[in-house]
Amino acid sequence: MIRLDGKEVSKALRKTLAQSVEKTKRPPGLGVILVGEDPASQVYVRNKMKACSEVGMESVEIQLPSSASEDELITAIAAMNENPGVDAYLIQLPLPKKFNEQEMIGRIDPKKDADGLTVENLGLLMAGRPRSVPCTPNGVMQILKFYDIDVVGKNVVVIGRSQIVGKPMAQLLLAANATVTVCHSKTENLFEHTQRAEIVVVAAGQPKFLKKEAFKKGAVVIDVGMHRLPSGKLCGDVDPEGLENWVSALTPVPGGVGPMTITMLLQNTLSLYQASESAT
Ligand code: NAD
Repeated sequence: MIRLDGKEVSKALRKTLAQSVEKTKRPPGLGVILVGEDPASQVYVRNKMKACSEVGMESVEIQLPSSASEDELITAIAAMNENPGVDAYLIQLPLPKKFNEQEMIGRIDPKKDADGLTVENLGLLMAGRPRSVPCTPNGVMQILKFYDIDVVGKNVVVIGRSQIVGKPMAQLLLAANATVTVCHSKTENLFEHTQRAEIVVVAAGQPKFLKKEAFKKGAVVIDVGMHRLPSGKLCGDVDPEGLENWVSALTPVPGGVGPMTITMLLQNTLSLYQASESAT
C-alpha cells in the first residue's frame, strides 16, 4: 500500500509557489477574519499566517470578539474587500452561532474569495470555468495528480455532500472525467457503492466509520475526515486497521489531506493576485 503523503506533496507545491511569489511585483496578500476565541480556530489562523510568510506572502488579520455584532463583522468584510493589499481572504469557519454564515460569505468579493465558497465561485466551478476552488477538495486532486493516480473513466465514490468538501469534490472529479457517485447520510446500502469503486473519497465526518470490508481490493482511499479522539490523537473517517495489504493507496490522518488545505489556500491567493494584476 502506498501512503499518500500530503506533507510531501505540500512541500513540493509550496516550493513552486514561493518561486512564483518571488517573481510578483509585490507580495500577494491573504486576509483572515477571525470572530471569537475558539482555540482550534486560533491555531488554524496562526498556521495560515505562518504558511503565508514562509512562501513570501503578506497576511492581514482582523480579529473580532465573540460579542461582536453583525454590523461589526460586515464592516470587517467591507474593509477586506476594499484593502488593495488583500488579494484574497476568508472568514474563519465556523462563525459563532448567532451569525448567518451563508449571508456573511455572500458579502465576500468573489474576486477575493480565498476559500472559493461564494455562490459565484461555486457556480464557476460547476460551469467548468473555475476561479478559486474550495481548498480541501482541490488538495485531494493535487494528491491524486502528484501520485499519478488516473481518474479518467474510473468509478469514484465521494461520501459526503457538504458545500465545502463533498459537492466541489464531485465537481472536480467530474471535470477530470471520472465517473462519480455521491453518497451521503441518506444513501441506502452504502457498501454496494463503495465496494465497486476504484477510488473512494471519504468526507462524512464520522470517526473510523469505514473499515476494510467497505473497499474492494486495490482501491485508492482518500480520507478527508479529521477527528480528535479523547486520547488527544487524531483519526480520520477510515479505520486503517487491516488496510495495509488490502487497498493500494491511502491518505494517513494526520499527514494526508490536512496539510494540503493551507497549501491550496496559498495557491488561490496567488491566482487571485495574478487575476487582479492582469485585469489592471
Ligand atoms: P459535514 O458534516 O458538513 O458533511 C458530512 C457529509 O457526510 C454530509 O453530506 C452527510 O450527508 C455525509 N454523511 C454523514 N454521515 C454519513 C454516513 N454514515 N454515511 C454516508 N454519508 C454520511 O462535514 P464536512 O465539512 O464536509 O467535513 C467532513 C469531514 O472532513 C470532517 O471530519 C471534517 O473535520 C473533515 N475536514 C477536513 C479538512 C481538512 O483540511 N483535512 C477540511 C474540511 C473538512
